[in-house]
Amino acid sequence: MTDTPLLILGAAFSDEERARLETAHAAIFAGSPDEVASLPEASRATVKAITFKGHNPLNGDVMDLLLNLGVIANYGVGYDAINVEDASARGIKVTNTPDVLNDDVADIAVGMMIAQSRNMVAADALVRSGKWAAGESLPLNRKMSGSSVGIVGLGRIGRDIADRLAAFKMDIHYHARSEKETQGWTYHADVVSLASAVDYLVIALVGGKETEKYVSRDAIAALGPHGVIVNISRGSTIDEEALIEALANGTIAGAGLDVFNDEPKIDERFYALETAVLQPHQGSGTVETRRAMAELQLANVSAHLSGTDLLTPVN
Ligand code: NAP
Repeated sequence: MTDTPLLILGAAFSDEERARLETAHAAIFAGSPDEVASLPEASRATVKAITFKGHNPLNGDVMDLLLNLGVIANYGVGYDAINVEDASARGIKVTNTPDVLNDDVADIAVGMMIAQSRNMVAADALVRSGKWAAGESLPLNRKMSGSSVGIVGLGRIGRDIADRLAAFKMDIHYHARSEKETQGWTYHADVVSLASAVDYLVIALVGGKETEKYVSRDAIAALGPHGVIVNISRGSTIDEEALIEALANGTIAGAGLDVFNDEPKIDERFYALETAVLQPHQGSGTVETRRAMAELQLANVSAHLSGTDLLTPVN
């Protein structure tokens, strides 16, 4: 029987990432959890670890096909695709890649805020089309520096966003399930109260069932016609139907969105919403950060296979 301790799971791995994993450990590959059942049974029996990337749900039925599985190492801090309850019930550890991506995700949140408030996408098109040269102009923008922002979820990334926005002289408000130690930022016990107090609402929550539509229709309405929503968390954390309606009707001023439901085949109504800046879930998408994430993922697998402590366990 060939000893293949690692299962590389997810078509989202780049060739370079896959090659690095295959150099470190003998490995087999499946494009998605559904494909695991079609792997040779003898190989499945030797799998001790999974490196996982992507958003296809990974549940207990797939874990049950891998009788010696001890760890699922996720590529990413958000592990909502992995059924952690099912893993724990089977004595399987789950790891993620926190912290190494905070800077990039915070950068893109701030980037989308500036791009939205200064109308940079339409302005780029104006210049490129030659319309500026022909004498056309755009309406004046809204000032971002010195305005107010509400962060929904003051965790690792939420804090890094708030720290950046403090340098933009913004008045910082936040909501989390409990009040945190901060540099005098204003706490709100609920999201509607937070939204009604600020110009920008930035969502930095974890995804998953517990935070589904956490930013509700009422919260979106409370933001008001000058309000801008930025989401770098997961599409599921906001009532997306209410968001699309609010953007279409102008009941909020705009949005900066890196995440959507049903990515990458997102609701096509987004394509026509000119006040929204849309990004292809690329918050952590720099060469440096993706490498650091891959290294941390692999370090967790290696720790498990050598019997030492996992670096960033989830359960
Ligand atoms: P984190 O440090 O765990 O912070 C998560 C925040 O979510 C905390 O403020 C926490 O609130 C809140 N939260 C967790 N469970 C909740 C619940 N059941 N109800 C209400 N609030 C809850 O996570 P992070 O490292 O900052 O990452 C946040 C998320 O960003 C990830 O989970 C991922 O989905 C997303 N992300 C996106 C990208 C991208 O490319 N766009 C990249 C990386 C991460 P409490 O303080 O009350 O516990």
